Amino acid sequence: MPKLDLSKRLHSLLLYGKLSRLPVFYMVLLCSIALTQLSAQFHSSAWAKRERLPWTKAKTPSKGQAQSIGSYANGCLQGAASLPAQGPGFKSIRRFRHRYFAHPESINLVRKLGKAVQEKQLTPIEVGDLSQVRGGLMAYGHRSHQSGLDVDVWFGGDATYLQTEAKRRLQKLKRKAKKKKWSAKKLKQKRFDIEHPSLISGWRELIDQKVWSKRHQTLLRLAAEQEEVARIFVHFRIKEQMCTLYKASPEFKTQPEPLWLRKLRPWYGHHQHFHIRLHCPKDSLECDNQGPLPKGLGCEGLSWFSKVEQKERKLAEKDTEEQRKQEFAMFSKQEQAKIKAERAQKRKERIKAKAEKRALLLQRCAHLAPK
Ligand SMILES: [Zn+2]
Repeated sequence: MPKLDLSKRLHSLLLYGKLSRLPVFYMVLLCSIALTQLSAQFHSSAWAKRERLPWTKAKTPSKGQAQSIGSYANGCLQGAASLPAQGPGFKSIRRFRHRYFAHPESINLVRKLGKAVQEKQLTPIEVGDLSQVRGGLMAYGHRSHQSGLDVDVWFGGDATYLQTEAKRRLQKLKRKAKKKKWSAKKLKQKRFDIEHPSLISGWRELIDQKVWSKRHQTLLRLAAEQEEVARIFVHFRIKEQMCTLYKASPEFKTQPEPLWLRKLRPWYGHHQHFHIRLHCPKDSLECDNQGPLPKGLGCEGLSWFSKVEQKERKLAEKDTEEQRKQEFAMFSKQEQAKIKAERAQKRKERIKAKAEKRALLLQRCAHLAPK
């Protein structure tokens, strides 16, 4: 039954007072449909707001010398260079997204990595999103990648995976698609996921041993060893894996805290691709670097990022919130009003600071924004 008919029916039932005759399951169904519609509306309006930003409209790089301006998640890019569709040891993918632009230093880094990968006779790297032609906030997909200094590289699989496991998965997929009558679009997406596999599997988020290979280990180290690289974001299990492998190697005894391993930072997602972040280039005087790396290898407490611990934290937060409410209720009305006013003031200050930051950036980037 179409959604519209259901909601019309609910409306008429409410009007004529027949709601009590509805079976329970029918009511649950109606509520869930209403909720889905509401959330869809919320999401589409959030995206629409992003779409209105000028940066997605730009078609050509701006004139002027290459400059990364602002920060990674609040910036823009002057005089962008573009990554070619392919080169020695690398391939640029998903070019229909028009995010193959960056500061020339990022493009050089891709070329350098490609060459190193080729020298080591590894499968070429596949490079995904860099930045838009003038940087800035994208309509979907990323908060960062705004100043031409963020590069996504897909993990992909090594030759063994591609020749055995990927083929097996593809055959299984084809059978499933036929049985379930999937659309060509859906099949294409699933195919992409097999050819660009996640390194993580299952609810415990463990390393998928059928996908993980020496190539991934070499690739991550190669990328992190580049001087211009500030950080690389990977799934926490991948960081954990790199830590375990390094600590078991003889190198660990003589070099207990190598910079390259410190640069690998755990972050959500990043199990199908890793995210390279470059330092601000010397030519970009208005570029804001991220803070320094935390001390130590960063190999401890990684499960903080796991879904299991996230869930536990959420539950604990609920309890704390409940406790806070109870404590608040014990204050006098006058004190409650005072606390509320203080909270409102703090919220106001935060919003103001955010708006000021945004306004300052708009000022710095105004000459690049397309009308
Ligand atoms: Zn990224």
